[in-house]
Amino acid sequence: MPALRLSTCGFWIPLLLVMFNTTSMAQAPTPEPVTDQETELGQAVYKQLLDKREIIESSPLYDSLKPFAEAIARVAQPSYPHPFKFFLVHEAQPNAFATPGGNVYVVDSLLYFVKNTEELAGTLCHEVSHTIHRDGAALMVKEQKIQEREVAAAILLGPTRAHIIAIALIGKLQQLGYSRDAESKADVTGSDICAEAGFNPWGLGWLFQDFQNADTSRLPQLLSDHPANGTRIRTLEKHFQDNASTFSKFSRDPKSATPFSVPKDAPEVFLLPNTKGGN
Ligand SMILES: [Zn+2]
Repeated sequence: MPALRLSTCGFWIPLLLVMFNTTSMAQAPTPEPVTDQETELGQAVYKQLLDKREIIESSPLYDSLKPFAEAIARVAQPSYPHPFKFFLVHEAQPNAFATPGGNVYVVDSLLYFVKNTEELAGTLCHEVSHTIHRDGAALMVKEQKIQEREVAAAILLGPTRAHIIAIALIGKLQQLGYSRDAESKADVTGSDICAEAGFNPWGLGWLFQDFQNADTSRLPQLLSDHPANGTRIRTLEKHFQDNASTFSKFSRDPKSATPFSVPKDAPEVFLLPNTKGGN
């Protein structure tokens, strides 16, 4: 949301406000940032990624991601009180993950992996659904309790050991696995969001299939903890059948998909730890 600069000319301010309101009415209202436990948890992960210099500040890849992020955020935003923000991060394994507070991280290699727009949209819809369901918040609170216990135990072994364990646990936060049930629920809510945003919700199922056909050593965290992809697809199929008025118009044939590709070796500029921004 652009900052409204105060002008010395009183006439322009009300006019600008009217123009601004008219523009923002066309979109879902973006909630005002509120700091609470969820945003704090999200900021801890953001800082971790920033310190590791994984967050991409600018890249032509953002141009490819943006239309999907915006369309999906518009539909998902009314269900979550903090603004959704999408960041590209550089990691080897194609992946996407969302943290409490509204940040969604898309690994650059996922943009090279997905074959069509529906697979990318499906992934983003799935991730924002984890945030809406507070899956990450619940898991991180649980993990923090484990961490406290382990750190307390480790202090007996010496402060250096405790420090190492704490760092290891913080590093794991972005990779925590959800239960199969939480995954299926995120698939279902994600399919509703994708359908409303105009993306074929079969895309996530096609992505499962592509990953199954790919080299398993590259299986992303998105799927690797959850081998029961068949169950997830069946749950989705049932949801589509039960809500035929919404879903029957979408083809399950991947041949109907819109191909997606990004420029090879797109340049990436990383956000440095001393830079302000994003969160
Ligand atoms: Zn998931």
